[in-house]
Amino acid sequence: MEKGLVIKSSGSRYKVLNSTGEVIECSIKGKFRMNDIRTTNPLSVGDNVLFEYGTGTDTCVISDLLPRRNYIIRKSSNLSKQSQILAANIDQAFLMATIVSPETRIEFIDRFLASAEAYRINAKIIFNKTDLYNPDDLMKMEYLVSLYEKIGYQCFRISVQDEVNIAVLRDVLKGKTSLIAGNSGVGKTSLLNLLDPSLNLKVEEISGYHKQGKHTTTFSELHIMPFGGYIIDSPGIRGFGVIDMAKEEIYHFFPEIFRVSKNCRFYNCIHLEEPGCAVRKAVDDGEIDALRYRSYLNMLENGDSKYR
Ligand code: GDP
Ligand code: ZN
Repeated sequence: MEKGLVIKSSGSRYKVLNSTGEVIECSIKGKFRMNDIRTTNPLSVGDNVLFEYGTGTDTCVISDLLPRRNYIIRKSSNLSKQSQILAANIDQAFLMATIVSPETRIEFIDRFLASAEAYRINAKIIFNKTDLYNPDDLMKMEYLVSLYEKIGYQCFRISVQDEVNIAVLRDVLKGKTSLIAGNSGVGKTSLLNLLDPSLNLKVEEISGYHKQGKHTTTFSELHIMPFGGYIIDSPGIRGFGVIDMAKEEIYHFFPEIFRVSKNCRFYNCIHLEEPGCAVRKAVDDGEIDALRYRSYLNMLENGDSKYR
């Protein structure tokens, strides 16, 4: 039995990276069972597994799943209550955003960040396409960078096209398992190709990124970076606000709101019109950014599922 890392999962066939860096094709044992989550896929990229080499024409077989540090799941759209595991054992999750072409909405960024908090995954923001920004766009980016860095989210200002600040980003990716999410068209594929030219992934023309069917598969893939580390690219993730959040707990995932909420008069305050609400006061005083509070209200109103 040997330990391996699942780098690609497509239904019943898996690609597993062994300890010497070879990629092994595996299947899973017929009655392979895992924990109690009802999922359509028992294993996902990022999973550590035990597998056995096949003899003769037999294929290699995965026999065990090792414990997960964390994972991201997506609820199926039907009513079967089944979920799909998109990625496991993630060190950090990046949201790639753009001020223009296309514009990433603040609410979208905040939903991503709140979901990452709920999953207890370290989140960071990449602002791409800085080569296209006019002075107003740059000001907007700087406003957001200072807003998010104050809360504790590291930000990167990059241009994949002009290869600006890529080395800084590469250093942060090095040796880690990172997930990169973001709306279609922000430049995720272009960044992957720049980080590892041998990937040669297909980049969509600007005019085509609104079309359906860009990705022919919804299965995630884990790319091995030449400088060390892994990047998980999942067409199913996008904003990844796929966790069940009760209305009363959404503010727990806005760190600066959560901190201030301890001073609210009522323990069950959800920071709307309650008397003695410290959060409302902090928004009025400018201590909590009005945009963040607006995103919070938006999530409270729409739940966590309406953001695609
Ligand atoms: P994805 O949908 O997030 O994977 O985005 P793609 O990598 O397919 O990029 C969408 C479009 O944006 C392509 O036409 C890229 O050439 C373009 N693009 C990506 N990065 C940059 C950048 O830094 N600057 C500019 N001007 N265009 C970029
Ligand atoms: Zn309150």
